[in-house]
Amino acid sequence: MSFTDQSSYLSQDIGECDPEIAALLRAEAERQTQTLEMIASENFTSHAVMQAAGSPLTNKYAEGLPGKRYYGGCEVVDQVEELAIARAKQLFGADHVNVQPHSGATANEAAYMALLKPGDRVLAMALAHGGHLTHGLKVNFSGRLYEFHHYGVRREDCRIDMDQVRELARETRPALIVAGASAYPRIIDFPAFREIADEVGARFMVDMAHIAGLVAAGVHPTPVGIADVVTTTIHKTLGGTRGGMVLSNAEHGTAVDRAVFPGLQGGPLMHIIAGKAVALGHALTEEFRDRQRHVVANCAAMAEELVAGGLNLVSGGTDNHLVLVDLSDTPLTGVDGEHRLEMAGITVNKNGVPFDERPPTVTSGLRIGTAALTTRGLREPELREIGRIIASALKPETSEADLADLRARSNAISERFPLYPHLTAGSVVA
Ligand SMILES: *Cc1c(COP(=O)(O)O)cnc(C)c1O
Repeated sequence: MSFTDQSSYLSQDIGECDPEIAALLRAEAERQTQTLEMIASENFTSHAVMQAAGSPLTNKYAEGLPGKRYYGGCEVVDQVEELAIARAKQLFGADHVNVQPHSGATANEAAYMALLKPGDRVLAMALAHGGHLTHGLKVNFSGRLYEFHHYGVRREDCRIDMDQVRELARETRPALIVAGASAYPRIIDFPAFREIADEVGARFMVDMAHIAGLVAAGVHPTPVGIADVVTTTIHKTLGGTRGGMVLSNAEHGTAVDRAVFPGLQGGPLMHIIAGKAVALGHALTEEFRDRQRHVVANCAAMAEELVAGGLNLVSGGTDNHLVLVDLSDTPLTGVDGEHRLEMAGITVNKNGVPFDERPPTVTSGLRIGTAALTTRGLREPELREIGRIIASALKPETSEADLADLRARSNAISERFPLYPHLTAGSVVA
């Protein structure tokens, strides 16, 4: 690190004052460009979002809410946060929105804190069947603070077992029922959950972290207006800056706001809220809606090729942005599969499948999503080719030499779809 004087401390380019980190930023931009990114929870955010997230708003303390802050000098960031809230309300038709949660996990903490007391019972989807660690994993805050019970999917078709949800709801009388998943390839029936929640006198919360972009575009039915509280990330299918958000009906708005601050967080990340505002504004455009339709069409096209190539998919296919490949009947584990696809130039994650007999560190599945590549511009012909590459890579007899050939095919696709050209060409930050 080298700073020549006080003025250069404030204005020096990172390439000059911290070449070590600058080189890593460039290396990561190159890695993202050269591989096919298919981790279902990831996406590529826009240059504009990164400009907001890299802005001097990072300097501002703004504890409280717009117009009701504990710090001076908030007149500009108030407008930024108000715009983010207004855009989110318009996008999802919500009565109340809090855009301050630092992440999806924090949004869930806030929702629980608003709706529950420690020790209350909650019914949510099992992690092993596609749920999320904030839905009651024992070592997570959720599992430590609340008494979680879990429903799952049916063995026959791997769809959420609504009969089991009803039975468990009647048995456990939860204060809250949670719907939403991290690895579920099908449409979730929110009205059916609401009916069960009403029957047992529970509140209903939806965690739409994965599918928020699809919901915003009307490609997945919306939980807004059905659930009492809806939580989400901004950075998955919604494609914005990393962070979370809580939508709610008017009744729970104040409780949600108090849970976020002072319940859980101190100062909000105003630069990130600016990034959320930019992303939410973009999500209101026809370009965004059209792209979400392509996310789903691309995933369906890839799924067809995977099945044609002899792979089993959990539930037999997909309605959304992801598939779960089930390797249980093959000699390969999820770890093997992830490694092979990496050698073939495709980044995915190993993932448990419902009723998996292998441990979570090994697994028998792969979760593969199309949101990031669709944002990058890929369409059905490319996703079909990628489906064929994946199916070939996962054939037991495929050799290292074959994987190198497959990587050349992946690279040929990457090269046709530039990503952040200005970043790999020398400039390091937005
Ligand atoms: C990703 C995810 C979260 C958590 O989001 P983070 O921003 O990683 O904390 C919560 N719930 C579900 C269902 C998710 O998929």
